[in-house]
Amino acid sequence: MRGLMMDDPLLISGMIEYAAQNHGYQEIVSRSVEGPIHRYTYADAYGRIKQLANALERLGVRIGDRVATVAWNGYRHFELYYGVSGIGAVCHTINPRLFPEQIVYIIDHAADRFIFVDLTFVPLIEAVQDKLPALEGVIVMTDAAHMPETSLANAYCYEDLIGAEEQDFAWPQFDENTASSLCYTSGTTGNPKGALYSHRSTVLHTMFVCATDGFGVSNGTVILPAVPMFHVNAWGLAYAATMYGAKLVLPGMGYDGQSMYELLDEEKVTMTAGVPTIWLMLLDYLKKESKDLPHLKSAGIGGAAAPLSMIEAFEDDYGVRVHHAWGMTEMSPVGTTAHLNARIAGLPKQERRAYQQKQGREVWGVKLKILDDEGNELPRDGKAFGELAVRGPWVIDSYFENEDASQTQFTDDGWFLTGDVATLDAEGHMQIVDRSKDVIKSGGEWISTIDLENAAVGYPGVAEAAVIGLPHPKWDERPLLIVVKTQDADITGEEILEFLSDKIARWWMPDDVVFADELPHTATGKIAKIPLRETYKDHKLPTA
Ligand code: AMP
Repeated sequence: MRGLMMDDPLLISGMIEYAAQNHGYQEIVSRSVEGPIHRYTYADAYGRIKQLANALERLGVRIGDRVATVAWNGYRHFELYYGVSGIGAVCHTINPRLFPEQIVYIIDHAADRFIFVDLTFVPLIEAVQDKLPALEGVIVMTDAAHMPETSLANAYCYEDLIGAEEQDFAWPQFDENTASSLCYTSGTTGNPKGALYSHRSTVLHTMFVCATDGFGVSNGTVILPAVPMFHVNAWGLAYAATMYGAKLVLPGMGYDGQSMYELLDEEKVTMTAGVPTIWLMLLDYLKKESKDLPHLKSAGIGGAAAPLSMIEAFEDDYGVRVHHAWGMTEMSPVGTTAHLNARIAGLPKQERRAYQQKQGREVWGVKLKILDDEGNELPRDGKAFGELAVRGPWVIDSYFENEDASQTQFTDDGWFLTGDVATLDAEGHMQIVDRSKDVIKSGGEWISTIDLENAAVGYPGVAEAAVIGLPHPKWDERPLLIVVKTQDADITGEEILEFLSDKIARWWMPDDVVFADELPHTATGKIAKIPLRETYKDHKLPTA
């Protein structure tokens, strides 16, 4: 028997319509690409989003068409999230940090009809436009006064385009499973793979992000997404702010410590989230300039493991609660958040911290399990580790038009294989041990490069650390620690190893330490292990 309830579709347009009606007064503040801080309200944004929807339809954009963006975190990008998806088209956010060949590949693969670009990225599209014959037009996200001289074949000015339209638009109603947005993963090998989200998955993911045990978003929250809107929809924070009418602060292209601090302070931001690299820059700036964070209450850390030293610095030095989180492009992206359950919240600090370092708890909505090499489920005892597999309403069930990847990344019974190696305990706490490709196999046992890196950055003078496995005649592989020093630090490899000696198992101790000026990073800010392995492939370990 079917329940007698309304089948009211969960649509992205409904979120912004609700926001304009119920908290139209609330502010959206952006550091604009042109320079000044831009301020307006959800009500103002909604009027312009309806103008944009009219403009898109006038350009001939129809339901299911792909419309791309190459843009920083700003108000026009926010408008595109709602305008494009609202009319039933697919908002394809492109990561400008990808290689130009990858950008050409994904624009072509997605069959994008139009691209909206920030001024910064006009040269990027100019350079590749010859390779994109199907592209019908490029809209530069600025006003007439800032419109650049450009070789783009079909260039439009954003403000002129939407300025010509009415602020009146009736949002189409359609099946909530309709595609809403598209993100490509920046895979380190092979071509990027597309995750195609739906309106339903986006709205459900937003509800989870807002929940108290998600990122805890309410009307009184002031959110600064320190993760780019071109990286998995800024972890859903631009949707979350809208759903509950939080004040939204968009940092434009200012991710350095000073720019971050200025917005956190001046806009009285209470909640932020981003990758550890961003927080390293902020913490370094705060320390050097003796600044404080009186308004900030919580910082989400994800995308890569949060080192204990970072959790301690936020909490003990600045009174900011850290919420470690884990997820993937394929998961919209949030899969787990490390809110402490009632039992652990009452434990002494050091015991609590051990749980805060884990990537979080299984939440309602995303099911987790760990598998051995034969695909058998491993026990939830916090010790056994294996490949993490997931299922849930905001997890992809196949890649966008990529049969090969869809064949290999899923189990026969429909679980998505994350490629992460993890442990899981009886209360649902999940801890990432490593990427399956990065874990070091030494003497038949595994060494977690993440644990070693996190321990090493705890030593004063270590700015960043990476661990890779090098071939070893006796043990198969042994760890090499590569360290970037903080400015003016005078430290030696022996000192770092001495520091590690009571923090890790003895046989995990790196066989050698080398210093580098910088580490290579992927397009999403993670340490890029493949180029590191290439650089150090001939490095001779003293033990080999
Ligand atoms: P992306 O799809 O670019 O968001 O990358 C997803 C991958 O980032 C995951 O599969 C993990 O390997 C890694 N990752 C994300 N969050 C964390 C975290 N908190 N700790 C460790 N690794 C993480």
